Amino acid sequence: METLIEKISSDSLNKAKAILLDGGLVGMPTETVYGLSAIGTMPSAVKQIFEVKGRPADNPLIAHVHKDYDIEKLVYIEHDYIYKLKEKFMPGPLTLVFKSKGVICREAVCGGDTLAIRMPSHKGCQRLLRCVDMPLVAPSANVSKHTSPVTAEQVYCDLNGRIPLILDGGRCTGGIESTVLDVTESVPRILRAGLITREMITETVGACEIAQHKEGDKVKSPGVKYKHYRPKCETALFYADETEKAKELYNKTISENKKPYIMCQTGLKDNFNGYDVLDLGKTGEDMARNLYDKLLEGEKKADIIIAVAVDREDGVYLGVMNRLKKSCG
Ligand code: AMP
Ligand code: MG
Repeated sequence: METLIEKISSDSLNKAKAILLDGGLVGMPTETVYGLSAIGTMPSAVKQIFEVKGRPADNPLIAHVHKDYDIEKLVYIEHDYIYKLKEKFMPGPLTLVFKSKGVICREAVCGGDTLAIRMPSHKGCQRLLRCVDMPLVAPSANVSKHTSPVTAEQVYCDLNGRIPLILDGGRCTGGIESTVLDVTESVPRILRAGLITREMITETVGACEIAQHKEGDKVKSPGVKYKHYRPKCETALFYADETEKAKELYNKTISENKKPYIMCQTGLKDNFNGYDVLDLGKTGEDMARNLYDKLLEGEKKADIIIAVAVDREDGVYLGVMNRLKKSCG
């Protein structure tokens, strides 16, 4: 199968709609990472997503809807605080997990009784969702466990020959996957950290828990138990007070005739003068935006990416560090 990359236009959107209605898959941009989409009420199309990605069969998909879509067609809104969250953060990088009404097929929710819903804010994605006017289920558009793509070309590198069309909506501005928030209980609980932070949710609704995933627990968000986001080269992770160890590994790698890169935030770069560095930027938001892009750049030119980071859990760092630990740890 030939895989086309097309900029978003009326023509390419109509082409995407025809492919989706015919049970096919389309790569789509969002403000977080690129998604691999199918119509959420078509079991055979949804099954293809799992096949194309090699995604574990127990890891459910998020349903994406346009901003005027009535989500009560799909789920039960059980708590009043949900309206505040919706008002403040949707459209945007927040996914809410509700009790499902069963409209989205079992294959997409892996037989579970909940459904995750998101309204992407990316303009091109909104246009696609309006054009199709049906919920599109989509995981990230990478081969399972590989780093998530933030450009159309990166989707192509993973899925070339396996899907007919990738809509090119430019580089994703968010850079890490959405915050996944369970809203089935009286206090919302973060299942996966992201750009909408615990602090932002607490400020809006008064309270927010973070799910703790301990070894052996039955996890509520199955995705979190898998190895994730890994680039194809070797990786190592050090904290900011381990600069010397990072340098030792860098120099050892060179002595073995292999190519290392340090990957760190701008504030740590001065510790690595004369070393080749992949710069993640200054703020937590910069790090989110650049992390996958730099990992995918690094896997092309490095034998090993040596990540060095300040271990923080406040704000967006919770999500960034979670991705960094999984990709490089
Ligand atoms: P991805 O599509 O690769 O960004 O992964 C989607 C994430 O959302 C995974 O971590 C899933 O486990 C999680 N997720 C999707 N649907 C549900 C659901 N119904 N309940 C809990 N977590 C979900
Ligand atoms: Mg993913």
